[in-house]
Amino acid sequence: MSSPPMDDRDGVIWYNGDLVPWRDARFHVLTHSMHYGNGVFEGERVYGGKVFKLTEHSARLHRSANMLAYELPYSVEELDAATRRVVAENKLEAGYVRPVAWRGAEVIGVSAKGTKVHVAIAAFPWGAYYDQKAIRLVTSRWKRPSPESSPAGSKAAGLYIICTLAKDEALAAGAQDALMHDYKGRLSEATGANLFLLIDGELHTPTTETILNGITRLTVMDLARKRGVKVVEREIWPDELARATEVFLTGTAVEVQPVGAIDGREYPVGPVTRQLKDDYAALVRM
Ligand code: PMP
Repeated sequence: MSSPPMDDRDGVIWYNGDLVPWRDARFHVLTHSMHYGNGVFEGERVYGGKVFKLTEHSARLHRSANMLAYELPYSVEELDAATRRVVAENKLEAGYVRPVAWRGAEVIGVSAKGTKVHVAIAAFPWGAYYDQKAIRLVTSRWKRPSPESSPAGSKAAGLYIICTLAKDEALAAGAQDALMHDYKGRLSEATGANLFLLIDGELHTPTTETILNGITRLTVMDLARKRGVKVVEREIWPDELARATEVFLTGTAVEVQPVGAIDGREYPVGPVTRQLKDDYAALVRM
Protein backbone atom coordinates (compact mmCIF):
# COMPACT_ATOMS: atom_id res chain seq x y z
CA MET A 1 0.00 0.00 0.00
CA SER A 2 1.49 3.33 -0.97
CA SER A 3 1.34 6.18 1.54
CA PRO A 4 -0.25 9.54 0.63
CA PRO A 5 2.04 12.20 -0.92
CA MET A 6 3.89 14.33 1.60
CA ASP A 7 2.06 17.53 0.59
CA ASP A 8 -1.45 16.09 0.73
CA ARG A 9 -2.13 14.96 4.28
CA ASP A 10 -4.28 15.90 7.23
CA GLY A 11 -2.78 17.44 10.36
CA VAL A 12 -0.80 20.57 11.11
CA ILE A 13 2.75 21.78 10.49
CA TRP A 14 4.59 24.24 12.72
CA TYR A 15 5.60 27.06 10.37
CA ASN A 16 7.51 30.11 11.65
CA GLY A 17 5.82 29.98 15.04
CA ASP A 18 2.26 29.03 14.04
CA LEU A 19 0.49 25.75 13.44
CA VAL A 20 -0.86 25.79 9.88
CA PRO A 21 -3.02 23.22 8.05
CA TRP A 22 -0.73 20.57 6.46
CA ARG A 23 -1.58 21.46 2.85
CA ASP A 24 -0.94 25.19 3.41
CA ALA A 25 2.72 24.84 4.50
CA ARG A 26 4.17 26.22 1.24
CA PHE A 27 6.85 28.62 -0.03
CA HIS A 28 7.59 30.64 -3.17
CA VAL A 29 9.44 29.18 -6.21
CA LEU A 30 12.08 31.91 -5.92
CA THR A 31 13.06 30.82 -2.40
CA HIS A 32 16.85 31.19 -2.10
CA SER A 33 17.47 27.75 -0.56
CA MET A 34 15.51 26.07 -3.36
CA HIS A 35 18.08 27.39 -5.86
CA TYR A 36 21.31 27.23 -3.87
CA GLY A 37 20.85 24.22 -1.57
CA ASN A 38 21.42 26.01 1.72
CA GLY A 39 18.44 24.62 3.58
CA VAL A 40 19.27 22.56 6.68
CA PHE A 41 17.15 19.88 8.28
CA GLU A 42 16.83 17.22 10.93
CA GLY A 43 15.32 13.77 11.16
CA GLU A 44 13.96 12.69 14.54
CA ARG A 45 12.02 9.67 15.74
CA VAL A 46 9.07 9.65 18.10
CA TYR A 47 8.68 6.73 20.51
CA GLY A 48 5.72 6.65 22.91
CA GLY A 49 4.81 10.24 21.96
CA LYS A 50 8.30 11.58 22.80
CA VAL A 51 11.16 12.58 20.49
CA PHE A 52 14.35 10.65 21.27
CA LYS A 53 17.31 13.04 21.92
CA LEU A 54 15.20 16.05 20.95
CA THR A 55 17.56 18.71 22.29
CA GLU A 56 20.56 17.12 20.51
CA HIS A 57 18.63 17.36 17.23
CA SER A 58 17.50 20.97 17.82
CA ALA A 59 21.09 21.91 18.68
CA ARG A 60 22.41 20.20 15.53
CA LEU A 61 19.91 22.15 13.41
CA HIS A 62 21.47 25.31 14.85
CA ARG A 63 25.02 24.09 14.17
CA SER A 64 24.06 23.05 10.62
CA ALA A 65 22.79 26.58 9.90
CA ASN A 66 25.84 28.15 11.57
CA MET A 67 28.15 26.08 9.34
CA LEU A 68 26.31 27.64 6.39
CA ALA A 69 26.84 31.08 7.98
CA TYR A 70 23.34 31.85 9.18
CA GLU A 71 21.44 31.94 12.46
CA LEU A 72 18.05 30.45 13.21
CA PRO A 73 15.48 32.89 14.59
CA TYR A 74 14.39 30.38 17.29
CA SER A 75 16.47 29.15 20.22
CA VAL A 76 17.12 25.45 20.88
CA GLU A 77 14.54 25.66 23.71
CA GLU A 78 11.96 27.22 21.38
CA LEU A 79 12.57 24.52 18.77
CA ASP A 80 12.20 21.81 21.43
CA ALA A 81 8.89 23.33 22.57
CA ALA A 82 7.65 23.74 18.98
CA THR A 83 8.51 20.10 18.23
CA ARG A 84 6.66 18.85 21.31
CA ARG A 85 3.68 20.97 20.30
CA VAL A 86 3.49 19.69 16.72
CA VAL A 87 3.92 16.06 17.85
CA ALA A 88 1.11 16.49 20.39
CA GLU A 89 -1.22 18.36 17.98
CA ASN A 90 -0.85 15.59 15.41
CA LYS A 91 -1.40 12.98 18.16
CA LEU A 92 1.74 11.19 17.01
CA GLU A 93 2.67 8.23 19.20
CA ALA A 94 5.31 6.73 16.89
CA GLY A 95 6.82 8.26 13.80
CA TYR A 96 9.21 10.80 12.41
CA VAL A 97 9.81 14.53 12.77
CA ARG A 98 11.30 16.66 10.01
CA PRO A 99 12.42 20.15 11.08
CA VAL A 100 13.72 22.25 8.20
CA ALA A 101 15.17 25.74 7.98
CA TRP A 102 15.77 27.78 4.86
CA ARG A 103 16.52 31.20 3.47
CA GLY A 104 13.63 33.07 1.88
CA ALA A 105 12.75 34.68 -1.44
CA GLU A 106 13.88 38.26 -0.78
CA VAL A 107 16.85 38.08 -3.20
CA ILE A 108 17.78 35.92 -6.21
CA GLY A 109 21.59 36.29 -6.26
CA VAL A 110 24.07 33.74 -4.96
CA SER A 111 24.69 35.88 -1.90
CA ALA A 112 22.08 35.11 0.74
CA LYS A 113 22.49 38.53 2.34
CA GLY A 114 19.09 40.03 3.04
CA THR A 115 17.15 36.79 3.11
CA LYS A 116 14.81 35.94 5.95
CA VAL A 117 15.38 32.60 7.70
CA HIS A 118 12.31 30.38 7.93
CA VAL A 119 11.75 27.28 10.05
CA ALA A 120 9.09 24.57 9.79
CA ILE A 121 8.55 21.32 11.66
CA ALA A 122 6.44 18.43 10.36
CA ALA A 123 5.62 15.24 12.29
CA PHE A 124 4.07 12.13 10.74
CA PRO A 125 3.75 8.35 11.18
CA TRP A 126 6.65 6.38 9.71
CA GLY A 127 7.59 2.75 10.22
CA ALA A 128 10.77 0.80 9.57
CA TYR A 129 13.22 2.34 7.09
CA TYR A 130 14.04 -0.97 5.38
CA ASP A 131 11.81 -4.01 4.82
CA GLN A 132 14.74 -6.42 5.20
CA LYS A 133 16.18 -7.79 8.47
CA ALA A 134 19.66 -7.54 6.96
CA ILE A 135 20.21 -5.19 4.04
CA ARG A 136 22.42 -5.36 0.97
CA LEU A 137 24.76 -2.44 0.22
CA VAL A 138 26.63 -1.67 -2.97
CA THR A 139 29.65 0.59 -3.16
CA SER A 140 28.76 3.90 -4.80
CA ARG A 141 30.78 5.67 -7.45
CA TRP A 142 29.88 8.93 -5.66
CA LYS A 143 32.42 10.07 -3.08
CA ARG A 144 31.95 12.09 0.11
CA PRO A 145 33.74 15.41 -0.47
CA SER A 146 36.75 16.79 1.36
CA PRO A 147 35.94 19.04 4.33
CA GLU A 148 37.62 21.76 2.27
CA SER A 149 34.85 21.39 -0.33
CA SER A 150 31.80 21.13 1.90
CA PRO A 151 30.84 21.36 5.56
CA ALA A 152 30.37 17.60 6.13
CA GLY A 153 29.11 18.12 9.68
CA SER A 154 26.15 20.19 8.48
CA LYS A 155 22.92 18.38 7.67
CA ALA A 156 22.65 20.67 4.68
CA ALA A 157 20.15 19.98 1.92
CA GLY A 158 22.74 20.54 -0.83
CA LEU A 159 24.94 17.70 0.42
CA TYR A 160 22.08 15.27 -0.18
CA ILE A 161 22.43 15.46 -3.96
CA ILE A 162 25.26 12.94 -3.43
CA CYS A 163 23.09 10.74 -1.21
CA THR A 164 20.10 10.77 -3.55
CA LEU A 165 22.23 9.88 -6.59
CA ALA A 166 23.99 7.10 -4.67
CA LYS A 167 20.78 5.73 -3.16
CA ASP A 168 18.84 5.63 -6.42
CA GLU A 169 21.72 3.90 -8.22
CA ALA A 170 21.91 1.35 -5.38
CA LEU A 171 18.16 0.69 -5.60
CA ALA A 172 18.43 0.30 -9.38
CA ALA A 173 21.19 -2.27 -8.79
CA GLY A 174 18.86 -4.29 -6.55
CA ALA A 175 20.47 -3.27 -3.24
CA GLN A 176 18.80 -1.43 -0.37
CA ASP A 177 21.42 1.28 0.07
CA ALA A 178 24.81 2.59 -1.03
CA LEU A 179 28.10 2.53 0.83
CA MET A 180 29.99 5.69 -0.02
CA HIS A 181 33.76 6.10 0.03
CA ASP A 182 35.25 9.51 0.72
CA TYR A 183 37.44 11.70 -1.49
CA LYS A 184 40.53 9.75 -0.38
CA GLY A 185 38.91 6.35 -1.02
CA ARG A 186 38.28 5.51 2.64
CA LEU A 187 34.99 4.05 3.87
CA SER A 188 32.63 6.87 4.83
CA GLU A 189 28.90 6.24 5.40
CA ALA A 190 25.64 5.15 3.82
CA THR A 191 23.19 7.68 2.34
CA GLY A 192 21.37 8.31 5.62
CA ALA A 193 23.27 6.32 8.22
CA ASN A 194 26.71 5.73 9.75
CA LEU A 195 28.83 2.60 9.32
CA PHE A 196 30.22 0.17 11.93
CA LEU A 197 32.41 -2.90 11.38
CA LEU A 198 33.24 -5.58 13.93
CA ILE A 199 36.91 -6.51 13.47
CA ASP A 200 38.64 -8.87 15.94
CA GLY A 201 35.85 -8.29 18.47
CA GLU A 202 36.25 -4.49 18.37
CA LEU A 203 33.85 -2.00 16.85
CA HIS A 204 35.45 0.17 14.17
CA THR A 205 33.83 3.24 12.64
CA PRO A 206 35.13 5.99 10.33
CA THR A 207 36.24 9.31 11.81
CA THR A 208 33.95 12.32 11.46
CA GLU A 209 35.93 14.03 8.68
CA THR A 210 33.51 13.32 5.82
CA ILE A 211 30.41 11.98 7.56
CA LEU A 212 27.45 13.38 9.40
CA ASN A 213 28.37 12.61 13.02
CA GLY A 214 25.14 10.81 13.82
CA ILE A 215 23.36 11.19 17.11
CA THR A 216 22.63 7.46 16.86
CA ARG A 217 26.31 6.81 16.11
CA LEU A 218 27.32 8.47 19.39
CA THR A 219 24.52 6.69 21.28
CA VAL A 220 25.51 3.27 19.95
CA MET A 221 29.20 3.91 20.70
CA ASP A 222 28.15 4.50 24.33
CA LEU A 223 25.99 1.39 24.39
CA ALA A 224 28.88 -0.70 23.02
CA ARG A 225 31.30 0.61 25.64
CA LYS A 226 28.75 -0.19 28.35
CA ARG A 227 28.77 -3.78 27.06
CA GLY A 228 32.56 -3.87 27.29
CA VAL A 229 33.08 -3.65 23.52
CA LYS A 230 36.02 -1.46 22.54
CA VAL A 231 35.12 1.27 20.04
CA VAL A 232 37.75 2.56 17.62
CA GLU A 233 37.28 5.68 15.46
CA ARG A 234 39.83 5.70 12.69
CA GLU A 235 40.28 5.85 8.94
CA ILE A 236 39.11 2.55 7.45
CA TRP A 237 40.01 1.36 3.97
CA PRO A 238 37.75 -0.76 1.72
CA ASP A 239 40.04 -3.83 1.83
CA GLU A 240 39.30 -4.08 5.55
CA LEU A 241 35.75 -5.17 4.72
CA ALA A 242 37.27 -8.63 4.17
CA ARG A 243 38.26 -8.79 7.84
CA ALA A 244 34.91 -7.63 9.26
CA THR A 245 32.77 -10.33 10.86
CA GLU A 246 29.70 -8.13 11.43
CA VAL A 247 28.57 -4.91 9.76
CA PHE A 248 25.74 -2.58 10.71
CA LEU A 249 24.45 0.95 10.10
CA THR A 250 23.14 3.45 12.63
CA GLY A 251 20.80 6.37 12.17
CA THR A 252 17.65 7.91 13.56
CA ALA A 253 15.56 6.46 10.75
CA VAL A 254 17.37 3.10 10.34
CA GLU A 255 18.08 2.66 14.10
CA VAL A 256 20.62 -0.20 14.38
CA GLN A 257 20.39 -1.94 11.00
CA PRO A 258 22.28 -5.17 10.26
CA VAL A 259 24.07 -5.29 6.89
CA GLY A 260 23.90 -8.77 5.30
CA ALA A 261 26.05 -8.09 2.25
CA ILE A 262 28.32 -5.47 0.69
CA ASP A 263 28.85 -5.92 -3.04
CA GLY A 264 29.60 -9.68 -3.36
CA ARG A 265 30.60 -10.33 0.27
CA GLU A 266 28.11 -11.67 2.82
CA TYR A 267 27.96 -11.04 6.57
CA PRO A 268 25.98 -12.90 9.23
CA VAL A 269 23.81 -10.95 11.67
CA GLY A 270 26.12 -11.58 14.62
CA PRO A 271 25.77 -11.37 18.40
CA VAL A 272 27.28 -7.88 18.84
CA THR A 273 24.92 -6.37 16.26
CA ARG A 274 21.93 -8.15 17.81
CA GLN A 275 22.87 -6.99 21.32
CA LEU A 276 23.30 -3.36 20.28
CA LYS A 277 20.06 -3.45 18.28
CA ASP A 278 18.22 -4.69 21.38
CA ASP A 279 19.98 -2.19 23.66
CA TYR A 280 19.07 0.67 21.32
CA ALA A 281 15.44 -0.49 21.05
CA ALA A 282 15.23 -0.59 24.86
CA LEU A 283 16.88 2.83 25.30
CA VAL A 284 14.63 4.74 22.90
CA ARG A 285 11.54 3.43 24.67
CA MET A 286 12.77 4.31 28.18
N1 PMP B 1 24.71 10.20 7.78
C1 PMP B 1 23.79 10.79 6.98
C2 PMP B 1 24.22 11.23 5.62
C3 PMP B 1 22.48 10.99 7.44
O1 PMP B 1 21.57 11.58 6.64
C4 PMP B 1 22.13 10.54 8.72
C5 PMP B 1 20.71 10.72 9.22
N2 PMP B 1 20.53 11.96 9.86
C6 PMP B 1 23.11 9.93 9.52
C7 PMP B 1 24.39 9.77 9.01
C8 PMP B 1 22.79 9.45 10.91
O2 PMP B 1 22.57 10.53 11.77
P1 PMP B 1 21.63 10.41 13.04
O3 PMP B 1 22.06 9.22 13.81
O4 PMP B 1 21.84 11.67 13.78
O5 PMP B 1 20.24 10.26 12.53
